[in-house]
Amino acid sequence: MKAPAFSYLRPENISQAIDFIDIYGDEARWLAGGQSLLAALNMRLAAPSVLIDINGLSELAGISVNAGKLIIGALTRHREIEHSPLVAQHASLLALAMPHVAHAAVRNRGTFGGSIAFADPAAELPACCIALDAEFVIVGRGGERRVRARHFFTGLYETALQTGEILVAAEIPCARDKGRAAFRELARRHGDYAIAGLAVQAAVEGDVLRDVNIAFFGVDSKPVLAEHAASVLEQGAATPARIEQAQHQLAQDLAPQDDVHYSGAMRMQLARVLLARAIGDLVNLETKSAAR
Ligand SMILES: Cc1cc2nc3c(=O)[nH]c(=O)nc-3n(C[C@H](O)[C@H](O)[C@H](O)COP(=O)(O)OP(=O)(O)OC[C@H]3O[C@@H](n4cnc5c(N)ncnc54)[C@H](O)[C@@H]3O)c2cc1C
Repeated sequence: MKAPAFSYLRPENISQAIDFIDIYGDEARWLAGGQSLLAALNMRLAAPSVLIDINGLSELAGISVNAGKLIIGALTRHREIEHSPLVAQHASLLALAMPHVAHAAVRNRGTFGGSIAFADPAAELPACCIALDAEFVIVGRGGERRVRARHFFTGLYETALQTGEILVAAEIPCARDKGRAAFRELARRHGDYAIAGLAVQAAVEGDVLRDVNIAFFGVDSKPVLAEHAASVLEQGAATPARIEQAQHQLAQDLAPQDDVHYSGAMRMQLARVLLARAIGDLVNLETKSAAR
């Protein structure tokens, strides 16, 4: 099918973009890479009467470091993040995750902000941002506000963004000395949305983990921070026994539901297996026994 008819606007700066969205409100959608939005239009899952194309807003694009924070503009393409030396140095979790986001052709066009705002529950970047304790910078008529990633995703394809607001950037604390990342997902084919996956950021000294952030995706209607499992892992060396304990604690963090594709029980089992593998990656542990 083809998209329903829509009007097309292309603002030259953020201020003009906010003027446009003020006029059209809920009738309008921001158009970034179009990799999700245009498919939704073609399938008639969405029918906005106006698309506001933000591709000309150069102030929304790019990657920089300022005051101990890695700043990723909303319009930065997935491919740029994948190959950025700044991202590899300061937020290696994103570099690990990016090759799993769709396929090269989609990554050439898809944007960081589009993925965050779209909030697909099986998407990799929202979970990474939670694990990295990112903060999102949002602009609207009332000025600028910030929302921590862990509070941003409010439900299935739902976020804290209000009508009339635009996501401008993510600010991510630069990884410290001992900071390490692990990323695991299971998808039917490489590049597909994940059946289940997780992003982990922690301080690692030998086999001891501190400040553990574990964010799962694909297992609920939004990404989930697994705080109970993380707190078990912070209690001592990451031995196979402790990892197994953390796997059990996941029952406190996750409650995957049955859907048309898989049972909740299967997703929970996958989450446990992927957790053991990711923690094994962090401490270079042979996790075969715990990963069963
Ligand atoms: C075949 C295929 C496979 C894919 N596989 C994966 C995958 O495995 N993992 C994954 O994470 N993604 C996957 N995607 C989605 C891809 O990552 C998209 O690029 C991304 O979800 C949306 O980014 P976009 O820039 O294309 O946004 P668009 O499609 O332009 O917009 C998506 C939504 O976000 C809103 N939006 C965009 N930018 C902003 C902003 N700055 N502020 C506020 N709202 C905004 C739009 O209004 C729209 O509602 C896949 C896509 C395709 C086509």
